[in-house]
Amino acid sequence: MMKESLGLIDAHLKEEGISRRDALKLFGTGGAAALMATGTTGCTGTSSNAKGKILIVGGGLAGMATAAGLTNALSNPDITILEPNELSTSYQPGQTLVGGGVWTKDQVVYKRDDFLPDGVTLIKEKAVEFDPDNNTVKTSGGKTIKYDYMIIAAGLKLDFSKIEGLGIDQSITATGDYSAVSKVLGKNGLASIYYQQGSEDTWKEMQKFIAEAKSGKKVKGIFTHPNTPIKCGGAPKKIMYLTDARLREAGARENAELTFYPNGSNMFGVKEYHDAIVNQFEARDMKWNYRHNLVAVDPEKKIATFNRHWEEKGEWDEDLEEYSIVPRSEKVEVPYDFMHITPPQVAAEEIANSPVGSGKGWVPVKKETLQHVKYPNVFALGDIVAVPMGKTGGSARKQYKVVIENLIAVMEGREPKAEYDGYTVCPLITSLSTVMLAEFNWTGKPTPSFPLDPTQERWIWWLLKVYALKPMTQYGMLSGRA
Ligand SMILES: Cc1cc2nc3c(=O)[nH]c(=O)nc-3n(C[C@H](O)[C@H](O)[C@H](O)COP(=O)(O)OP(=O)(O)OC[C@H]3O[C@@H](n4cnc5c(N)ncnc54)[C@H](O)[C@@H]3O)c2cc1C
Repeated sequence: MMKESLGLIDAHLKEEGISRRDALKLFGTGGAAALMATGTTGCTGTSSNAKGKILIVGGGLAGMATAAGLTNALSNPDITILEPNELSTSYQPGQTLVGGGVWTKDQVVYKRDDFLPDGVTLIKEKAVEFDPDNNTVKTSGGKTIKYDYMIIAAGLKLDFSKIEGLGIDQSITATGDYSAVSKVLGKNGLASIYYQQGSEDTWKEMQKFIAEAKSGKKVKGIFTHPNTPIKCGGAPKKIMYLTDARLREAGARENAELTFYPNGSNMFGVKEYHDAIVNQFEARDMKWNYRHNLVAVDPEKKIATFNRHWEEKGEWDEDLEEYSIVPRSEKVEVPYDFMHITPPQVAAEEIANSPVGSGKGWVPVKKETLQHVKYPNVFALGDIVAVPMGKTGGSARKQYKVVIENLIAVMEGREPKAEYDGYTVCPLITSLSTVMLAEFNWTGKPTPSFPLDPTQERWIWWLLKVYALKPMTQYGMLSGRA
């Protein structure tokens, strides 16, 4: 199937005057080796005899890719990974496709141990205490690990407990133990693709919703986006587009009202993509209400409560010679038949409240070099890192190469000079056969890898999303080659 699809991608690219090899190069995946995993060179082209004990906290996508890349680049690697979750390397971007019934859950579940690079020591425990002044970390099993260099790649936590009425008191991770949420989510019309089992349950709940609409009942589907940074900012909308597409496929779209309730006041931080999405929503009769943050749910009555917030002009300020701005808010109750919740997202407590964390929890780094602001022998990347717009696998794919180059520079006594430019990519699924490939960086402008209008929904990007990105991640990134 993949071979067939790559053939189709090739044919389409050819029509646009691009070869697949060039396309992969453009996309930054290092060409054919990315898809075949036969290459032997490191992703950075760096090779070094530098020595030192490297500790990586978190063996998810970013941590494992970094371990693999360092193993390729160092002649004497001494790397330890701390990772308690045996499914940590699972393919989270695929959870959206599982939620929309395109894939099944088993297509995104990967075993961490299958991706452990040769020679790397894995400790199946959590880091619970950080003492960066003495270069030590304590683990959940009571070990004290001494390191020369540390890389923090511990991802983020999904904090459904911030939403009243769900009866959830613990945060969970996207691929770990979800028992804290299983009593209330994945049933009675409440769904979330943000955790692995939730993605399978989303498809079940969506099908019930569609069946109700098909039976002639007028139904309401609502989709939330919280007031915290989130991983994959496009996912709350992608699952809405897929619900729309599945309703149309069932011939039941006219019986369903679909409304997006984001906390923010636009569809996308980049104007070009915002405008494109507004047009796509209008064309599909998908509604939206900005500045709504989900604060409570009554799962019995199926009512969601949002904090609607806005600003008003206040008194004239004599000193500043301008009107003051007064924040206002009110609670708004919205009945639903099906609700997709994108939960508030936070850094794990043991990191947020440690010397390597920050007031907001995320690990503070110099945003270009990804070196910790206080501890030069510490780097961070992936969802845990305090950089703007960086919480996607696409950003981690750029970041891990920067971390490898800069860590090796520090190990060799040089200045870290490699720079991350804020690149990220959101393959925005807009139907069951189209994707808008939204690429951008800190310039706030589209930064397309391909010479094609990036605001257009295209079938070729659907093929890329459904057939190529997973093997690129599995064989390219997790082997440290692309
Ligand atoms: C529904 C959904 C859709 C997405 N869609 C896309 C997409 O289309 N494109 C895209 O590029 N990205 C997408 N992403 C985002 C992407 O999957 C993440 O950005 C990426 O996985 C981040 O990698 P990470 O290594 O930082 O975090 P993770 O892969 O989550 O790994 C972090 C690991 O750290 C471990 N950990 C946590 N605390 C500790 C501790 N104290 N000690 C030791 N280990 C610890 C955890 O167990 C976890 O395994 C999506 C994510 C979701 C949930």
